Amino acid sequence: MDKKLFKLLLIALFSVSAFANSNSDINLLDLYKDLHSNPELSYKEFETSKKLSLILEELGYEVTNGVGGNGVVALLKNGEGKTIMLRADMDGLPVEEKTGASYASRTKTLNDEGQEVFTMHACGHDVHMTVLIGAAQYLIQNRSDWSGTLMLILEPAEEVSGGARNMIKDGLFTRFPRPDFNLALHVSSGMETGKVGYLPGWAMANVDSVDIIVKGLGGHGAYPHTTKDPIVLSAQIISQLQTIVSRQIAPTDPAVVTVGSIHGGTKHNVIPNEVKLQLTLRSYTDEVRNATISSIKRIVRGAAIAAGLPEELYPTVTLKDEYTPAVFNNPQLVEKLKVSFEKSLGKDNVKKVSPVMGGEDFGMFGRVEPIIPTALFWLGAVNKNIYEKAVREDIVLPSLHSDLFLPDAEPTLETGVKAMTGAALDLFNES
Ligand SMILES: [Zn+2]
Ligand SMILES: [Zn+2]
Repeated sequence: MDKKLFKLLLIALFSVSAFANSNSDINLLDLYKDLHSNPELSYKEFETSKKLSLILEELGYEVTNGVGGNGVVALLKNGEGKTIMLRADMDGLPVEEKTGASYASRTKTLNDEGQEVFTMHACGHDVHMTVLIGAAQYLIQNRSDWSGTLMLILEPAEEVSGGARNMIKDGLFTRFPRPDFNLALHVSSGMETGKVGYLPGWAMANVDSVDIIVKGLGGHGAYPHTTKDPIVLSAQIISQLQTIVSRQIAPTDPAVVTVGSIHGGTKHNVIPNEVKLQLTLRSYTDEVRNATISSIKRIVRGAAIAAGLPEELYPTVTLKDEYTPAVFNNPQLVEKLKVSFEKSLGKDNVKKVSPVMGGEDFGMFGRVEPIIPTALFWLGAVNKNIYEKAVREDIVLPSLHSDLFLPDAEPTLETGVKAMTGAALDLFNES
């Protein structure tokens, strides 16, 4: 076994003896459980960022807090070479944990509306943070094995798609060394522990939220001819929206138009003045994204004209500014990662996965001109026995964001640290 791989394997033991040359070793499993029990909502990651920035400082990193809100940037300048950015996100979700784990979260925090809500790391960001700390520890303790600049970032507010944008706006790529590569991982609720998934090209989708207000002229339900019924108009619009993906976008270009909420009216026999629709849109390319938005605008306008509404009562279409850009995995970088993962985890544990229409605002880091090669890979988090049983018995596993999602912590962290550390070392050391 080569020396480097052996050291990486030692990390996985999470034991003090793995770092016999250091007095400040971090037990990653304890850190993970602590983070898991104490989640914080988006924009409210105050304690999490404080805790982790202290750990990074103690390890010897040059730490800057408050980058784009609760964001943290930790630098290790270790001689000539490339700059590599590793990213972990910090926020939890307003979900009441039902996993039954001994370290399950019972934490309640205030949401934006001032209500106390149960909070859970249901998207595995606690794994992401712990892996980042594991990699931070290994790479500083073994700094003689590589040279370059390591840039670790802790991103706030990923779930609401604000963190990456705010960190970039606050000078992530101008105040700090500009990375040659951006790397991140995300836990997978559909892959067993010990494995990682890679994918070149589009990996996760553009996400847009759209509000439509369908207006009308209300009145008595028994005299519909004296009204302009926004409920019937909404029904027509919703039906026509289904033709965007099926008839207007090329079948080879993935896209989703989902009407997730519809609200209108108060009573059986009253035709209301308006109906509100909320949509989520998904796509990969800017072209498909723009075409979908234009189609929606055209369809609602056309339906209003056909209903004989005056122009001031045409529906309004508002594109919310929570836009999450698609994640595009740089194919050359992914090829390098694949080789590196096969080396650190074994060929059988590295698999190519399919793209998904979920969103991740990590994509934003790969959108800043001049474009930095960027890639996100998936980290298997499902207990092996549970995974095998699910495959055998055709059971659907709890997805990310589910109140039952619980990574099998130890092997997940072990694989994450090995994969992330190995990738960083190989990228630093490539000629
Ligand atoms: Zn999530
Ligand atoms: Zn996530």
